[in-house]
Amino acid sequence: MKKKLNCEQIGALIAFYLDGTLSPKLAKYVQEHIENCEQCQDRYCKEIIIDSYISDDINNSYTTKQYEIFKDKLSEYIDNELDDTENIKMKKITISNPLARQDLEDIYSFKKLLHGAYEKTKNELKTDYSKSVINQLIQNKSYISFYKISALFFIMVASIVAGLIKFLYF
Ligand SMILES: [Zn+2]
Repeated sequence: MKKKLNCEQIGALIAFYLDGTLSPKLAKYVQEHIENCEQCQDRYCKEIIIDSYISDDINNSYTTKQYEIFKDKLSEYIDNELDDTENIKMKKITISNPLARQDLEDIYSFKKLLHGAYEKTKNELKTDYSKSVINQLIQNKSYISFYKISALFFIMVASIVAGLIKFLYF
């Protein structure tokens, strides 16, 4: 690059330089000019500030408004408590917004985890429950007294029958 670029030309290239779309050779040339030229340094700084505002704006459009609505309604959406219009709105936000998509994925995997834990506890409880029921049955006094009463009743009936037989045949 023998031909020198003037400040105006450099200024026009700064935006591309910041985007990283210049060839390495040209980028190096612009960089060297900026480092050695106060006027272009100023312009470069301004461009950086504008650039950061723009990217902030893009980030904000993800985080504000729509995303706030999404976060507000997320639990209702997961639990199928929204009406059709709201459901469609939520779906649209999920498709267009990577943050919302991530949230949804997170909450679904969390739900899965929670469900797994719940099932596990339920199964453990079931085993425990049947065990404790058997234990209770074994130790239950009314259960035993039921047999006592049955045995007494059987003896009573047997003695009546025996008495009848005695009366009839002897
Ligand atoms: Zn300059």
